[in-house]
Amino acid sequence: MLQQVNGHSSGTDAEGKASLKGDLQQFLDGEAPLHQLDDLTKVNPVTLETVLRCLQARYTEDIFYTNAGCTLVALNPFKPIPQLYAPELMQEYHAAPQPQKLKPHIFTVGEQTYRNVKSLIKPINQSIVVSGESGAGKTWTSRCLMKFYAVVASSSASCENHKMAERIEQRILNSNPVMEAFGNACTLRNNNSSRFGKFIQLQLNRAQQMTGAAVQTYLLEKTRVACQASNERNFHIFYQICKGATKDERLQWYLPEGAAFSWLPNPENNLEEDCFELTREAMLHLGIDTPTQNNIFKDFKPHRTISKELAITVLAGLLHLGNVHFTDSEDEAQPCQLMDGTKVSVRTSASLLHLQEDLLLETMQIRTIKAGKQQQVFRKPCSRAECDTRRDCLAKLIYARLFNWLVSVINSSICADSSSWTAFIGLLDVYGFESFPDNSLEQLCINYANEKLQQHFVAHYLKAQQEEYAVEGLEWSFVNYQDNQTCLDLLEGSPISICSLINEECRLNRPSSAAQLQSRIESALAGKPCLGHNKLSREPSFVVVHFAGPVRYHTEGLVEKNKDPVPPELTGLLQQSQDPLLMMLFPDNPEEKTQEELSGQSRVPALTVVSKFKASLEQLLQVLHSTTPHYIRCIKPNSQSKPQTFLQKEVLSQLEACGLVETIHISAAGFPIRVSHQNFVERYKLLRRLRPRTSSGLQGLCPARGPSEQPLCAKDATLQPPLQDILHALPALIQTATTPS
Ligand code: ADP
Ligand code: MG
Repeated sequence: MLQQVNGHSSGTDAEGKASLKGDLQQFLDGEAPLHQLDDLTKVNPVTLETVLRCLQARYTEDIFYTNAGCTLVALNPFKPIPQLYAPELMQEYHAAPQPQKLKPHIFTVGEQTYRNVKSLIKPINQSIVVSGESGAGKTWTSRCLMKFYAVVASSSASCENHKMAERIEQRILNSNPVMEAFGNACTLRNNNSSRFGKFIQLQLNRAQQMTGAAVQTYLLEKTRVACQASNERNFHIFYQICKGATKDERLQWYLPEGAAFSWLPNPENNLEEDCFELTREAMLHLGIDTPTQNNIFKDFKPHRTISKELAITVLAGLLHLGNVHFTDSEDEAQPCQLMDGTKVSVRTSASLLHLQEDLLLETMQIRTIKAGKQQQVFRKPCSRAECDTRRDCLAKLIYARLFNWLVSVINSSICADSSSWTAFIGLLDVYGFESFPDNSLEQLCINYANEKLQQHFVAHYLKAQQEEYAVEGLEWSFVNYQDNQTCLDLLEGSPISICSLINEECRLNRPSSAAQLQSRIESALAGKPCLGHNKLSREPSFVVVHFAGPVRYHTEGLVEKNKDPVPPELTGLLQQSQDPLLMMLFPDNPEEKTQEELSGQSRVPALTVVSKFKASLEQLLQVLHSTTPHYIRCIKPNSQSKPQTFLQKEVLSQLEACGLVETIHISAAGFPIRVSHQNFVERYKLLRRLRPRTSSGLQGLCPARGPSEQPLCAKDATLQPPLQDILHALPALIQTATTPS
């Protein structure tokens, strides 16, 4: 049985370590101490237990990166280790003839991808999929990789290009604090949790200089702006403003010191929330104060400038909006009244959002319904709960558009002209698999994305490798990989799947109860292997058996969330704002109506949250398929974010969830080097000229095959070029390479 090891610290637990090593000696090839095993494929036998122990032994020695065949495992140290990310170390990996021979590191992956884009024939796009559960270190890893590319790419720039390169790299790096301020929040599992998914393409030219970047975001958790789970918080930016505003700004934004806001729970100290100046600086660098330079403002009247102050004014308006509360109305025909003392919040909010106060209030209190052939307008007072929903909906609507606007500003500031780059390195930082006591549409989307990414991984590394070996006739013992197609069929397959059923409920636009949705799913999808048994729950729900484990989704509110309806009166109200930023976010022009606005009008079939997410996911996968993927699996050694604490049970469940052992099995049994025939010929053609065709030499190395990727059988000695031949050829090769033609 595995034991839970709490709070061990390297150095003080020497005895424990000695016995751990002793225990495991039987598992190892040779005499190397366990922590020195840089690659989990060398653990013998490869089991969850041995892999876990090897990772633990390394963690105890402060070694946080370990190779697992084609994947890099990254343990979160939960403590700063500046020397591990120093620019000198980046340069060391960059300059190394064979970076993969250095200690496992994210810089190895960084350097590998960087070199790969510089293919001799045609640049090959690369991608790095960083996965792991919340708090495991995905965003940290992506940020470090971005810094790595910034350092190595600017070092490769020529003198005159150097300044330009540095500018673009700085701008790319500056996008991080801005996006994190607006898109990250303190949650129970991570003080700086990204509440959106992100794919960033770093664009490189032929000289391998970074010429720009493009960011795509996924599923911002916009509900957080108006509703935070207990002990969780709103997006950092709100706290940053409240803490960091100057005296004058406090007056301007009606934010007196110590003011309480319903939407700002738990305002105790958090480092991420003390960075208002940093966020502002970064916004400034992104050109948010220089509107004329950005495409986004091109249709804007020249005397109006969009400044970061405007964005912040809108946010302050939202904070005051959150303090608007209603009382129950005794007479259904009368609108709910404002709770005592909250009229001032309506006034302040309206003033900051440049709206008419009475119109803002009325929009929250009264629903207008168009009915009949003449589209007659009826006005119906809302219940207190409905008033609250409309208030929250206003905030979500504004925040989501503000966030998208920021992303587009960032993109227009960092995106390069398509003629100036030839290849990209994509970094994907998306939410990992989630399973909580109460799971809803958000978890369904997140876990669906993780199933798709797992399938991409399985398809790319495991399935393709196995099939290719079979075609090649290579002797190899096959591993049963976990194909998650059956789960994907259940989630998205045709003609009927969970997604299609939830979408259909939205389309039919009929009142449907949570229990009805449950029974529809159960009857329409009965017998599907990944639909779990749903016996234990009293609340309406269904269970999906994901590759990472079963998850119970509650059906209450699922259909409504999927519709994400925006009453047209709310968009209508915002279109009347006199605030320059809101005017841009909510143009009063029917041609520019967005999907959200259309969804408020019942006659137009609207795209649901699930269908929009599915479409963006498919797009992402298409991009990933066109790249050479690399994988980094981040692991959280404990859920309290403590350094020097390795909880076996918690790590074990993460290892299981990502199917790491299977990956290692296949990588261990497979061939480590793969080169396309075309690239191979290009790289070694000089040798070919120098050597006569023989059966043992270069001809063997370079089998005459089609252009498809072929494994170079590094394990098979008969296919290796005899070392002697290469050594003989070397002087002539150097001569050829250095003599001008
Ligand atoms: P995720 O994006 O997976 O939710 P983060 O990247 O935000 O997780 O990491 C959570 C926290 O863990 C960070 O705020 C940081 O404190 C710590 N952390 C992660 N990776 C490292 C690392 N390599 N070195 C030091 N601390 C780290
Ligand atoms: Mg993150």
